[in-house]
Amino acid sequence: RKHLEEKFRQSHKMEAIGLLAGGIAHDFNNLLTAIAGYSELTLRKMEPDNPLRHNINEIKDAGDRASALTSQLLAFSRKQVLNPRVHNLNSVISDIERMLRRIIKESIEFRTILDPNLQNIKADPGQIEQVIMNLAINARDAMPLGGTLVIETQNVTLSEIEAADRLNIGPGSYVKMTVTDNGQGMDEDTINRMFEPFFTTKDSGKGTGLGLSTVYGIVKQSGGDIAVSSELDSGTAFEIYLPGVNRPAQAQKWPESTGVSPNGHETILLVEDEEIVRNLIREILVSSGYTVLEAESGRVALSICETHPDKIDLLVTDVIMPKMSGLELSDRVVKVSPGIKILFMSGYTDDSIDDSRLTEMDRSFIEKPFTPDDLARKIRETLRS
Ligand code: ADP
Ligand code: MG
Repeated sequence: RKHLEEKFRQSHKMEAIGLLAGGIAHDFNNLLTAIAGYSELTLRKMEPDNPLRHNINEIKDAGDRASALTSQLLAFSRKQVLNPRVHNLNSVISDIERMLRRIIKESIEFRTILDPNLQNIKADPGQIEQVIMNLAINARDAMPLGGTLVIETQNVTLSEIEAADRLNIGPGSYVKMTVTDNGQGMDEDTINRMFEPFFTTKDSGKGTGLGLSTVYGIVKQSGGDIAVSSELDSGTAFEIYLPGVNRPAQAQKWPESTGVSPNGHETILLVEDEEIVRNLIREILVSSGYTVLEAESGRVALSICETHPDKIDLLVTDVIMPKMSGLELSDRVVKVSPGIKILFMSGYTDDSIDDSRLTEMDRSFIEKPFTPDDLARKIRETLRS
């Protein structure tokens, strides 16, 4: 009973912190889109020898660093926009093995034990890479005098009992990755708090306390769970469970990069409730040659659709808006203007919109914060699709 109570307390705590972190990250994403976007638009209009370029570049760099922080918070709160794809965990590990060896010191022996018959998983490979890196870096830090780091993969079938006792996932077939070190280990207080964002036992400047919170968010958002066993002075093992899927691996879609940001002449209906972001996007679109109709809500957007005399080629809409969400709006807009292309933008996702659903609906998606070039390219891509 005590064990169960503790488990509930922990999961409530993580839920509460996640909500807070996700809320902050969502609002920051809008602000950062404006900071990055206006910096870039200003740089474009400045003479190359303008002494103020330096200042704007500094603002842009600070904005980029803030975006990196925000995306870690979003990852923790499980609101990150993921690009899940069926793939094999072994190949992710093999791909980053060389990089891992470079990060880990020579005094640490690094081994992998990979099950050659490992089932595939459906997750965002880039994010899974992040999980492995963070766990490996922590293991390295726990073994300042050297030791052994082992990454092992295997197929497991969880019974009702095992799944309910240590983990918060249903019974079934999983891919299990165990990352084991024989370093310092953790005391009970650290184990209880290790997933909290900004919790670190490392000296200031050494640890951000965001490594394990990111791991936690990514694994949970991918339908998996984590178990940890650790003993002071003898070492730690992190067990990551990810649902196995019985489908062949999907090839990676490489985003096309053309270098120049393409222009257009089409008519775009822009819907965004945050004024500062809406103004920025309008400036980007108008300077790329598009005709822009603007709305601050789904309701206004719909009435524009109904009354605008000419064809509207593309709807660019925020996803999370009060009253009518971007998804609902898009469903209603296609009824009024059949054939209209749709581009969603958000820096925050509900579990309800994953990439595969968007692909099925033939709609595309851009993640905030984005640069003016990112947006211009994505718009061309969507209009061409
Ligand atoms: P950071 O590494 O920046 O401190 P993390 O979120 O990655 O933040 O980890 C939080 C804390 O969990 C660490 O400061 C450390 O105390 C503990 N920890 C994580 N992994 C290990 C490990 N493999 N061995 C010992 N302690 C660990
Ligand atoms: Mg860390």
